[in-house]
Amino acid sequence: MQDKLLEIKEKALSVLNNCKDEKTLNDIKVKFLGKQGELTSILRGMRDVSQEDRPKIGALLNEVRGAIEEKITELNNKFNEEQLNKKLQSEKIDVTLSGLQVKNGAPSVLEKVIEDIEEIFMSMGFDVVDGPEIEEDKFNFEMLNIPKGHPARDAQDTFYIEDEKVLLRSQTSPVQARTMLAAGGNKPIRMICPGKTYRRDSDDATHSHQFTQIEGLVVDRIERGISMSDLKGTLDTLFKKIFDEKTEVRFRPSYYQFTEPSVEVDLTCCSCKGKGCPMCKNTGWITVCGAGMVHPNVLRNCGYDPKEWSGFACGFGAERVAMVKYGMTDIRKLDNQTDLRETAAFDRRED
Ligand SMILES: [Zn+2]
Repeated sequence: MQDKLLEIKEKALSVLNNCKDEKTLNDIKVKFLGKQGELTSILRGMRDVSQEDRPKIGALLNEVRGAIEEKITELNNKFNEEQLNKKLQSEKIDVTLSGLQVKNGAPSVLEKVIEDIEEIFMSMGFDVVDGPEIEEDKFNFEMLNIPKGHPARDAQDTFYIEDEKVLLRSQTSPVQARTMLAAGGNKPIRMICPGKTYRRDSDDATHSHQFTQIEGLVVDRIERGISMSDLKGTLDTLFKKIFDEKTEVRFRPSYYQFTEPSVEVDLTCCSCKGKGCPMCKNTGWITVCGAGMVHPNVLRNCGYDPKEWSGFACGFGAERVAMVKYGMTDIRKLDNQTDLRETAAFDRRED
């Protein structure tokens, strides 16, 4: 029996030494230590061993079992470790690999101009106010001193949605009317309202059925004496900051329904600095803005008593300012700026 045990030990350790995988290891375990295993059958034969030999054989049996179990545990640990390493290897991320390059974007020219204008007005204490693009006729026209049937309506070919009551706003002026009404006729106002406006224009290089208007409105008590020189000072500051310090602002008499007196505002041509070039048609000046003192009828319609309150209003197209500033010749380009190289190029011109 002793020889048998030593033989089993030798055989077991020999196959274990050649064992290369977990499955074979399991088979070996069953073969030697399982219920039907070789060692178990020896154990069963212990009852035939004489009393005096039992301790010796028992000790040997334990030793053989211990040696086999120890080797199996060792191999088990080895296989587990190998498997873990294999898994770690397959899930390894190589952080030195170069990734996808993300190119820097740049704001669209139009968006940038609008933001710049908002910031300049805010630095002068103006609020930025928003209003609906689908508007009622009364806010878009009537309150602004343009009653039904008035010829001034013809100049703004309007998109009507419902009879002659609801329309796509043809100007941002209805936001002025709404702001004055909301203020209840007894608070000073200093605001701009940038936003999309719509007219039934045929699109070409200089016209678009949708464009961005920016309007400014200042209303204060009459004793504060808001005047044309405040208007001029405000626009002068605005355009000097948008273009450059040498930009001059000039007023020419004009006519609008909602202001009295009204002016058209010219700027020194930023392309030729006033010397004359194709962009300014050799006049040295570029028209960008309409403005004037708020018409008493508009104040009255919007809840302000023109005997106690006065103010100025101005309005211009953001696209026009953008085109003049960046020397663009086609307004349609502004809505179609999808090429990052192009927007980035305009952005760099700022530096
Ligand atoms: Zn010029």
